[in-house]
Amino acid sequence: MNLILMGLPGVGKGTQAEKIVEKYEIPHISTGDMFRSAIKEGTELGKKAKSYMDEGALVPDEVTIGIVKDRLSKPDCEKGFLLDGFPRTVAQAEALESLLEELNTKLDYVLHVDVPEDKLVDRLTGRRICPECGATYHVEFNPPKEEGLCNNDGTTLMQRDDDKPETVKNRISVNSDQMKPLLSFYEEKGYLVKVDGDQEIDDVFQQIDDKIGALA
Ligand SMILES: [Zn+2]
Repeated sequence: MNLILMGLPGVGKGTQAEKIVEKYEIPHISTGDMFRSAIKEGTELGKKAKSYMDEGALVPDEVTIGIVKDRLSKPDCEKGFLLDGFPRTVAQAEALESLLEELNTKLDYVLHVDVPEDKLVDRLTGRRICPECGATYHVEFNPPKEEGLCNNDGTTLMQRDDDKPETVKNRISVNSDQMKPLLSFYEEKGYLVKVDGDQEIDDVFQQIDDKIGALA
């Protein structure tokens, strides 16, 4: 069960990843975790990646792909994997194809959790945080008992700068532009599965499960 999970910020990718991993016992491989563990283990590639990151530079593809290869070669990936956050470009997707071929395997599905962009803006701009205790709320999906006040300590809730409408819209459009060529690439290859993410969490998972269940 070799899967890639894709979706814009706010589509609920993390929640779906947790559910997939729990049911099918395959590792959830996110780019961030992969870099962190390569650096912690002190591998050659980990050291290289760290030197770029320390300078605030992008890690070059050859290093990233090497790290992906090391990770996918580990024994816990024998039953499959769920990649999240990689690939980000068509060049990386092509490198991943060759890499999987080298490992004598191939992709099964690329799951694209899709939510209309205006709904994503609502989801992301509705987040509120308590500056005192760090509790998070959502004006629509997880409102505090008293409007605008923290349940724990009554502090006035704040909206983080990252969650302001202009910032959110910009983040979504940058991500969307980056994702489109990848979606086309995988559609042409026949891997792409569109998942309607504008539903309850369990209904979103059901669509994924209907598709991947046959692989198990
Ligand atoms: Zn609080």
